Amino acid sequence: MHKTHTCHTLIIGSGAAGLNAALQLRRKGITDLLILTEGLQMGTSINAGSDKQTYYKLAMCGAEADAPKVMAETYLAGGSMHGDLALVEASLSARAFLNLVNIGVPFPQDAYGQFVGYKTDHDPRQRATSVGPYTSRDMCRALIREVQHWQIPVREGRVVVSLLTATQNGQRRAVGAAALDEQGQLEYYTAENVVLAVGGPGGLYQSSVYPNVHTGAIGVALLAGAAAQNLPESQYGLASIGFRWNVSGTYMQVVPRFISTAADGQSDVREFLPPYFDTLGAMNSMVFLKGYQWPFDSRKIVGGSSIVDILVYIETVLKGRRVFLDYRTNPEGFRFEDLTPEAHTYLKNSQALLDTPIARLHKMNPGAIELYRDHGIDITAEPLEIAVCAQHNNGGLAGNHWWESTNLPHLFPVGEVNGSHGVYRPGGSALNSGQVGGFRAADYIAARYREPTLTPNTLQAAIATAQAELTPLLGAKLATDWRAERAQLQARMSRSAAHIRAKADLGQAAADAWAQWRRLAQAGCAGAVEETREALRNRQLCFAHAVYLDAVHFAVASGVGSRGSCIVLDPAGARAHARLDAAQWSFAPENPAFREQVLETIAARDGRAISRWVPRRPMPDSDAWFETAWAAFRQGTIYNQ
Ligand SMILES: Cc1cc2nc3c(=O)[nH]c(=O)nc-3n(C[C@H](O)[C@H](O)[C@H](O)COP(=O)(O)OP(=O)(O)OC[C@H]3O[C@@H](n4cnc5c(N)ncnc54)[C@H](O)[C@@H]3O)c2cc1C
Repeated sequence: MHKTHTCHTLIIGSGAAGLNAALQLRRKGITDLLILTEGLQMGTSINAGSDKQTYYKLAMCGAEADAPKVMAETYLAGGSMHGDLALVEASLSARAFLNLVNIGVPFPQDAYGQFVGYKTDHDPRQRATSVGPYTSRDMCRALIREVQHWQIPVREGRVVVSLLTATQNGQRRAVGAAALDEQGQLEYYTAENVVLAVGGPGGLYQSSVYPNVHTGAIGVALLAGAAAQNLPESQYGLASIGFRWNVSGTYMQVVPRFISTAADGQSDVREFLPPYFDTLGAMNSMVFLKGYQWPFDSRKIVGGSSIVDILVYIETVLKGRRVFLDYRTNPEGFRFEDLTPEAHTYLKNSQALLDTPIARLHKMNPGAIELYRDHGIDITAEPLEIAVCAQHNNGGLAGNHWWESTNLPHLFPVGEVNGSHGVYRPGGSALNSGQVGGFRAADYIAARYREPTLTPNTLQAAIATAQAELTPLLGAKLATDWRAERAQLQARMSRSAAHIRAKADLGQAAADAWAQWRRLAQAGCAGAVEETREALRNRQLCFAHAVYLDAVHFAVASGVGSRGSCIVLDPAGARAHARLDAAQWSFAPENPAFREQVLETIAARDGRAISRWVPRRPMPDSDAWFETAWAAFRQGTIYNQ
């Protein structure tokens, strides 16, 4: 007999997004909730951060005016984002931010209660704020306190392996999920609504700065046929890999020495950057600049700081060497007076014109050294290994402006798994979007999906369908090592669908990905508990990576060109650098027409993903006349739009 559980709204995932969705549902009077999660200490939000982890919101300080539509324009300027989503993320940003303040997240304010801000990337105003390196962790901790206060039940140690769906009034919809418990047994959860808050696709890449514990589970929704959008749009950048952390901000501003070694990590130590710069001053200034130009950016390659990422990629991926930042000694020939005025003044004003990178780091940001020490790496004594890593997916599942799946009603993807963003997004908008999604889903569910609509027969049929698929997998022995399967798909993604892409290679990569999926789709998963959990996880990861590769291939073949955080190699394009081989290192220009479109993808299990470009929805012109808007609100017609 399998275990089943029924609730009104099931929340899958307990990162910042899922926790807030649960809290807002409870505040709306939905009491029959359940959070199903790998664990409260799992996921990206509670385990990741950066030099100054950023939260993006409406400006609330000083005399500079800001407004939802003005902020939404900033989102739209990033390209390929729907206008209604931009307006909602802007409109709800103040509400979502103040909720966090009110539950105890210590965002800095001045003596008069103003929330001071700073400019983040792709931000024309000072909308960004931060509580330090661990903003998302502090958000989670405050949200967990609220979840406990409201006594919202949480089941930890669960791995969701499948979404349950049923057809109602001729429309397929979400009705729950199947999960493995801590003993490796299947459990079935049925619900009127499913809030899917499983985070970004961390498990898809070999070179990744997503926390080790986070794989993500967009694949379970793709397997259920949920529509996705903008899957190819991600962010990549330099990160340490022993302990995964972005080496942005002061880690670069102190100008560490970039070295590479043979594969053993010790022999044949070389400084590999100098041959690509006319002067050492130009080289060191470029490294400095990477401090606030963290993501790899196709617009910053020719003559810009993203050439550093390419050079690191060549060393690590193409030459099979390893790259380290050495803070103990200066780059060969380093002199402060050779730096650009910008870099020199910055270090001077920071009183950091000191002898070594580590002395400068100690002066400017001692916590940055401590952070690695806390994770067993002493950068005062050893070099820090880095690579170009995947950090965030701007795309994900497609939702409408209430964050409901565009083709699977009653499924609400919130957080990073919801692909609301396009090509560029302001830094910090991932955290804002995750909070906004929770408010939207809760508002809509409370207004429209409060009453039960599912019959026991419908639910039994949905469970039976999932059982018919999952039980045979658990009845047959695991044939291959799950680690090898995982490594295979991750290597494929990092090689072909990360920041360097090539049309010629993508077709084969996608075909290989589908071949791996066809093999895993039928393969047994029975083994020790951990093996079974990971083998079933591999299924959805493998399916997801095939869909991502297909979408990337489609985008590149459409002629989208190099944009955002990736380039498309093309011998006929612009040369990345005069001293890199032109045939190998030239890249296609962006075709800006695609900025007005969004890439939609829907996958079928038989190894087909259908992608198409759709015009992006314009920014809505909402009725801002108070009397009529109030009537629409009172009558609930706002939920019809
Ligand atoms: C190094 C780094 C730095 C970043 N810096 C910033 C920044 O400065 N500003 C910004 O806005 N964003 C930043 N981001 C992105 C941001 O942190 C994430 O997008 C955000 O935290 C994701 O939150 P989430 O709630 O959607 O997902 P997560 O926090 O990842 O939570 C996902 C939850 O789902 C659970 N889960 C997953 N799969 C399953 C499954 N199969 N079954 C059960 N449970 C499951 C997980 O255990 C977890 O509880 C950064 C990301 C990284 C990696």
